Amino acid sequence: TIPVLTIDGPSGSGKGTISRHVAQRLGWHYLDSGALYRAVGVAAGWADIDLDDHGALVRCAFDTQVGFRADPGGELRVVVNGVDATDELRTETAGAAASAIAAIPEVRAALKDRQRDFRQLPGLVADGRDMGTVIFPDAAIKVFLTASAEERAERRYKQLNDKGVSVTLGGLLREILARDARDAQRAVAPLRPAEDAVRIDTTGQGIETVVERVLALVKP
Ligand code: C5P
Repeated sequence: TIPVLTIDGPSGSGKGTISRHVAQRLGWHYLDSGALYRAVGVAAGWADIDLDDHGALVRCAFDTQVGFRADPGGELRVVVNGVDATDELRTETAGAAASAIAAIPEVRAALKDRQRDFRQLPGLVADGRDMGTVIFPDAAIKVFLTASAEERAERRYKQLNDKGVSVTLGGLLREILARDARDAQRAVAPLRPAEDAVRIDTTGQGIETVVERVLALVKP
């Protein structure tokens, strides 16, 4: 079977950065599952679909085309229905829309096979909320990353600031806490560690330290 390393956790836990580094070091594929939910949220916005119209959102989940490609600098670009939406996907507005539609069971079901298709040789690093619990329950290695809410907000603040998006730290902290609460409390695939996940608290830890800890799990 093709090896999978799942990396789940709340927003700002370092999942994205750690997953990309680990995938690069291993030479494995990388799945940013959050980008799929964000893409559907953004595409629904483009199509003026109401976030209460579940039927239309489910159709949108099936119809939205999402492509990942690396730009010349090696940065991952996300193309939604033919449009490079990388910057729009990163906003907290897109995150909130993603979190709202991600609570709809049929939307999650619509995206299931698409996520599993990323499992290709020589291996996959899958980043999300339910990678170890729902999408790849048979993954050989499962990691659950956490960090204090303050540090998670600070990381997102820096990321968004670097991209020129104007946000306040306090506002971001409130939005992140609200999104995490919704992700943890929803009925379908709530955010929680898989029973066999290794938990790593990344508060105060540098990227390289965490990357090495995760790689040590893959190659003991
Ligand atoms: O990880 P990211 O912040 O990009 O995810 C955006 C939102 O998409 C999350 O807040 C969550 O509601 C949803 N999501 C999910 N399952 C995943 C990945 C993301 O429900 N595997």
